[in-house]
Amino acid sequence: MSEEKPKAPREEASDPERAPAPGDEVEPGTQGAAETICDVCDGSGKLEGGEECTNCNGTGVVIKAVGGGG
Ligand SMILES: [Zn+2]
Repeated sequence: MSEEKPKAPREEASDPERAPAPGDEVEPGTQGAAETICDVCDGSGKLEGGEECTNCNGTGVVIKAVGGGG
């Protein structure tokens, strides 16, 4: 049960149209937001067990709000 399926090539992580990850604080493309290294997988996109990081969907980055808005 360890069959690995070939993954489709991922789009650029900087793509604002990318699917939101659970670790995102704000939606992709939100003004005043920036990509930050995922602190769960430390930007590797993988967990210790080799599984895809669920916090950033394996992208290694999450979207966080920046600046002093509000
Ligand atoms: Zn991650």
